[in-house]
Amino acid sequence: MIIDDQHYDVIIIGTGAGGGTLAHKLAPTGKKILILEQGEFLEKESSELVDTEVFRKEQYHAPEQWYDNEGEPFYPQTSYCVGGNTKIYSGVLMRMRERDFEEVQHKDGLSPAWALKYKDFEPYYTEAEQLYQVHGKSEDDPTEPLHSGAYPFAEVAHEPQIEVIKDVLLKQGLHPSHLPLGLGNQGRTDSEDTGISPALKYPNVTLKTSAQALYLHTNASGCEIKAVQAKIGHQSYLFLGSMIVLSCGAINSSLLLLRSANEKHPNGIANSSDGVGRHLMKQQLSVVVQLTSSAYSGLSQRTLGVNDFYWGDEQYPYPMGNVQESGGILQDVIFSEAPPLLSIFTRIMPEFGLRQLATRSIGWWLQTEDLPNPHNRVRIAGDRLHIDYEPSNVEAHDRLVYRWLDVLKAVQAEQPSRFGRNGVFPRSDMPIQVVAHQCGTCRFGVDPKTSVLDLNCRAHEVNNLYVVDSSFFPSSSSVSPALTVIANALRVGDHLIQRLMNE
Ligand SMILES: Cc1cc2nc3c(=O)[nH]c(=O)nc-3n(C[C@H](O)[C@H](O)[C@H](O)COP(=O)(O)OP(=O)(O)OC[C@H]3O[C@@H](n4cnc5c(N)ncnc54)[C@H](O)[C@@H]3O)c2cc1C
Repeated sequence: MIIDDQHYDVIIIGTGAGGGTLAHKLAPTGKKILILEQGEFLEKESSELVDTEVFRKEQYHAPEQWYDNEGEPFYPQTSYCVGGNTKIYSGVLMRMRERDFEEVQHKDGLSPAWALKYKDFEPYYTEAEQLYQVHGKSEDDPTEPLHSGAYPFAEVAHEPQIEVIKDVLLKQGLHPSHLPLGLGNQGRTDSEDTGISPALKYPNVTLKTSAQALYLHTNASGCEIKAVQAKIGHQSYLFLGSMIVLSCGAINSSLLLLRSANEKHPNGIANSSDGVGRHLMKQQLSVVVQLTSSAYSGLSQRTLGVNDFYWGDEQYPYPMGNVQESGGILQDVIFSEAPPLLSIFTRIMPEFGLRQLATRSIGWWLQTEDLPNPHNRVRIAGDRLHIDYEPSNVEAHDRLVYRWLDVLKAVQAEQPSRFGRNGVFPRSDMPIQVVAHQCGTCRFGVDPKTSVLDLNCRAHEVNNLYVVDSSFFPSSSSVSPALTVIANALRVGDHLIQRLMNE
């Protein structure tokens, strides 16, 4: 094992939404920062992920197998590269609703209150929207919480046929809104271009790629992390740091903590609550496809969202969730996972047919809150990573899908020449390998018995260990998670800057 001869003020592990953003925040402090990322720079820009090949290749899967409830192996759809999953995400950067921070009764149980509230996150949402150049318009969605300032950029216009749908929805008394989108000169803003690359301009910041953190080593008393052991190529290295920040994604951060068990932390680092790896949430996700009579590019951004069913309606007084138009389906990596709607079909379809289908389809993306369940967890058995997972809120999600199918049928009835009249809308739910919205495996809170992290996202039991990815979520909400991860990394960044300056 090679012991690196440097001592770092901060070691950040992972460069996705959490880690990349934190690196950007801490870089100007002049403190010595090491970033470890197990992936490499992605050759293609995220905006170039635009091809029918998306449906055929397994390139957006991690190069490793995980195991499901039945012990069946699967390749998770997650991106190990500089920028993490923000390199393949859709760039919809939504704020959680104000009520999402409170206890909410769902059909399947309670969504717990967060110890911090919307007002605590609001300034950081604003900072996050500035940093990731969010284009949006908050006035047309009645569920949108109060913003202290306008979005930094105006909303992205809908494609003409989405505009037609919007008008029909308005006639139905719904409130179609513009989805907030992170967009820069080169397409969707991600944590490589927005976070890591600017951070690397500072001489005090070092990035090591293809560097997989394997173990955290504590001091003798177990109350501090002394070193991070990482594999680079075939060689093991030990990196020493004062503050250690995990941002490997909710599943991989908990894996690292569990795998690093030692005498002082026999159930895994910072795990005397037995909470590490538990309460894994991943939202219920479905896609519904609406076929159109006229062709379009199939390459547009997601622009239209609907939250009229978010908190329920007269017939169903429980939260159902969020609806997003998916933009051109050629651009959406998640669709490539959807069986049997597109994946099997599209793998055997000739190129021409596939393009025809893609340019005559509008995808609708539906997402429903997943409730925290201690039995849904990341578990290690020998060398294997198991995901024990049973979905929650299945009925609420089905209701959302059926509400949306009724809406689409009404759109057809209004505009049969554009959208046909057959009433056929292929639907698919997302299988276990879609872990895109994973969160909750190291929840933050006040009580060390029921949470892993304190309110600054520092491990209750380890003085210099932080987690800034989506692990800290006590509940998943039904909105897309990345903006909350980014805002939280900025919030924790402020705390770390204070701490670094005082020590
Ligand atoms: C196809 C897709 C579309 C999505 N669309 C949206 C969207 O439109 N809006 C939205 O809000 N969210 C979206 N998401 C979710 C969003 O991308 C995630 O919520 C967000 O990226 C999570 O950030 P993170 O920091 O928790 O982890 P990640 O972004 O997953 O980053 C984790 C990083 O850690 C690295 N890593 C892991 N383990 C180790 C280790 N042991 N050592 C070193 N490095 C390690 C990984 O390689 C990765 O780079 C989407 C996700 C996917 C997959």
